[in-house]
Amino acid sequence: MVDYKGNVEKIACLACAREQGEINSGEIARSKYFDAHQDCFVPIPGLVIISARRHIQSFAEFTDREQRDFIKFLCRTRLAMKQALGVKVIYLYHREDTEHHFHLCLLPRHGWMKKFGTKTESVRPIINYAKKKFKTRNDIMKVEAATEKLKQFLK
Ligand SMILES: [Zn+2]
Repeated sequence: MVDYKGNVEKIACLACAREQGEINSGEIARSKYFDAHQDCFVPIPGLVIISARRHIQSFAEFTDREQRDFIKFLCRTRLAMKQALGVKVIYLYHREDTEHHFHLCLLPRHGWMKKFGTKTESVRPIINYAKKKFKTRNDIMKVEAATEKLKQFLK
């Protein structure tokens, strides 16, 4: 994998690599069963990934404890996005057929995204645009500043 800063890492499952401490960029918060971090591939400020700390594919596999922890952690993370970053609207998406284990993406809608429309199909073009365009030191600093704000809020 190559992250948004151009770092190259060889890993099998990204979320397991995080859990084992092989990767720790973009750390935001952790609950007993879940981990919230900035998406390391896409330089959109406040694009948060919530992954399970256990190698599972689907939330159909959550234990009762994970179910309870998940909804609390998800709501807290969303609240942090709202209060620390002023994010009014997010798109939430999740695919079970990725090469990595269970993770959910919380995509904040920023003003520049309007030109891509507001439907689900706007997500891929937005991500491609961000990957292609947001490469300057300033862009990276914006992402890191948002990550830090969320981290402080969720301390
Ligand atoms: Zn895994």
